[in-house]
Amino acid sequence: MTTAVLGGGISGLSAGYYLLRRFGKPLTIYEASPRVGGWIRSETHKDRGFLFESGPRTIRPVGLPGANTMEIVEQLNLPVRAIPRSHVAAKNRMLYAKGQVCMLPNSPMGLFGTKPPFSQPLYKAFIHDLLAKSTLAKHGDESIYSFAERRFGKEIADYAISPMICGICAGDAREISVRFLMDGLFEKEQKYGGVLKGLFYARYKEKNSTKPGIFAQEQTKMYLQSKQEKWAMYGMDGGLEQLPRALRKYLGENDVNVQLSNPCRNLTFSDNGVRLSLRDADLPVDHVISSLPAYRLAALVKQQHPSLSAQLLDIPYVDVVVVNIQFEGNNLLKQNGFGLLVPPCEQLPVLGVIFDSCCFDMDGNTILTVMMGGRWFDQWFSDQPSPKKLLDTALRYVRQILEIKEDPKFCRVHTHHKCIPQYTVGHKHRVANIRKYIKTYKLPLSLCGAAFDGVGINDVILSARRQVEALPQSFSHPT
Ligand SMILES: Cc1cc2nc3c(=O)[nH]c(=O)nc-3n(C[C@H](O)[C@H](O)[C@H](O)COP(=O)(O)OP(=O)(O)OC[C@H]3O[C@@H](n4cnc5c(N)ncnc54)[C@H](O)[C@@H]3O)c2cc1C
Repeated sequence: MTTAVLGGGISGLSAGYYLLRRFGKPLTIYEASPRVGGWIRSETHKDRGFLFESGPRTIRPVGLPGANTMEIVEQLNLPVRAIPRSHVAAKNRMLYAKGQVCMLPNSPMGLFGTKPPFSQPLYKAFIHDLLAKSTLAKHGDESIYSFAERRFGKEIADYAISPMICGICAGDAREISVRFLMDGLFEKEQKYGGVLKGLFYARYKEKNSTKPGIFAQEQTKMYLQSKQEKWAMYGMDGGLEQLPRALRKYLGENDVNVQLSNPCRNLTFSDNGVRLSLRDADLPVDHVISSLPAYRLAALVKQQHPSLSAQLLDIPYVDVVVVNIQFEGNNLLKQNGFGLLVPPCEQLPVLGVIFDSCCFDMDGNTILTVMMGGRWFDQWFSDQPSPKKLLDTALRYVRQILEIKEDPKFCRVHTHHKCIPQYTVGHKHRVANIRKYIKTYKLPLSLCGAAFDGVGINDVILSARRQVEALPQSFSHPT
């Protein structure tokens, strides 16, 4: 059996890794750009002791998805930089709201005081949940904003949930499905009539039911260490790009062919497999695993399967401006922490600012990353501003919000077009229909990557694993 993986981002490389582990070769990964890693990109300035991440910077070590990623990280022997839960970057998360920087509560005691931007103690949100009537959501889904507003009140929806959605997917909580982040809570609420009630009953009912571990590797050395040392998140020496680079090296050493600058332009399915139209040739293979963004895959299948293509195009994406800034001097922030988020009701172009130099040592520099646009990109940047104008906007808000008077030494501006898929209301259903179509027409195609089963690094690696594990064992038989 010959297999091709489309896309050399972290999901495609992971698919290659799991295919190699389960079935061996032959196996080729086709990547359109001249590098692997997709949105994971680190720019190191070793001489000056700092690095810029233009995409992700930290990975969460929790749960099955976290354990799964750590298995790969451990096998590749990558040097991780752990941030324990006691670290200031894990404890301090802020909002910029109502004209001031507000620290979010980081202990149970924080639920009892009244701290801006909230007008009442947060424990009252739980009372709201206990008293609020439950309504059955239409079609088994609703926006995460409406769920939070129904259960916990408008302030929680505006100042806790909405900025969190900006931080995770640069999206609008009023459009994003509750199932994106709160699938379990939503299910419990729908079943038991309230979130707290649901949590209570579920705990009582599930007390004696042991959940089977899906993957044995939950017990890897690194996973155990992360639990023992209470890691909240981790990054990597030299930046997160070390992960796709090391994966590519490992795959290369094991005779997996990773072809760069070789985009797939079309897929033609037949009874015998699938034909890939590549840079210089058409190539028949038995099976394709696509890790491409949904809109890219849509273009490849449009000719033969316009309806599948249309369903893929129903998954929207947003653009994000990422501005990395270096200031000399490591004490420029008034308050240390992971960073701050700006709730959309503040109506600013800034989604949030990450305090990179609070997370990791940057050798005497203050390093910040400003994220802008997202779901509101067109509203603020439809006139396609120059990088200089984008930088000026980012710096204006850094000065206003963080009161940093110094001029930056070095900056980088990236406009990432269509970089984060939006799991809008109905997403789960949409993805199920896409997979059903593939099954109905017996297309030799599996889907992984950020468009389908979660947008975090852990999610896309796990989605690759699940797609490989879903292939029949007969797959390994030579044709
Ligand atoms: C600014 C930003 C910050 C983020 N921060 C975090 C974070 O802190 N933590 C976290 O867990 N996640 C974070 N994420 C999310 C995470 O980085 C991504 O979801 C993940 O990297 C997506 O990986 P992927 O392999 O699914 O897709 P991609 O990275 O999009 O890879 C797809 C690859 O396919 C290639 N390709 C496209 N078309 C073709 C074609 N026709 N033929 C062949 N190849 C093609 C592309 O060039 C690309 O390399 C962030 C994302 C962004 C954009």
